[in-house]
Amino acid sequence: MGRNIDNKCKQCRRAGEKLFLKGERCLGPKCAIIKRNYAPGFHGPKGHKRLSDYGLQLQEKQKAKKYYGLFEKQLSLTFERAKKKQGDAGKNFLRLLEMRLDNVIYRLGWATSRAQARQLVTHGHFTVNDRKASTASMTVKLGQVIKIKKTKQNNRYFKNLGEKLKKAQRPSWLNFDVTDLSAKVLHEPQDQDLPQNLNVQMIIEYYSK
Ligand code: SF4
Repeated sequence: MGRNIDNKCKQCRRAGEKLFLKGERCLGPKCAIIKRNYAPGFHGPKGHKRLSDYGLQLQEKQKAKKYYGLFEKQLSLTFERAKKKQGDAGKNFLRLLEMRLDNVIYRLGWATSRAQARQLVTHGHFTVNDRKASTASMTVKLGQVIKIKKTKQNNRYFKNLGEKLKKAQRPSWLNFDVTDLSAKVLHEPQDQDLPQNLNVQMIIEYYSK
């Protein structure tokens, strides 16, 4: 699987908002959205262009793609899966994205960005229901228990995680057990757990064309 090597801060500047792609730097004063909140390019700050309806839908879809660090194919397949599920396709779409294993690791505070979470997953640092899980796109299911592998817990990265874990704001659908560094999926993400910065209606309209 390839990866997106575009400059992360430029992706945020193009979207016009923080997409939190660089971990801790995103929370500090060096964030490019704080310093240069205008689209990247030679001509400097000229404000954001007025876009057609299609342009706005495309922009929103691109934002979701960057936010979750996915390729077009992965995002469109997720949308197809969401459409086949019962209920609101938009919410199903966001739920499926939130329940990807790499996103779960990020939400738990075990990684500072989704990109880092994906790398940790593919390097085999976690188990799901005591079985090795190294597929970042895996969708977690109700009742499943995600753990940091015992053999990896002494790894310097996880040993230094203590303070960050205390500060992490975990969603209510994941129950974190600090004693054995595990988390259980209690229920699907509720409306308040879904990202509020994505206009999912526009994304539906984009994919419905
Ligand atoms: Fe985006 Fe700011 Fe993080 Fe750069 S530092 S990736 S601009 S949120």
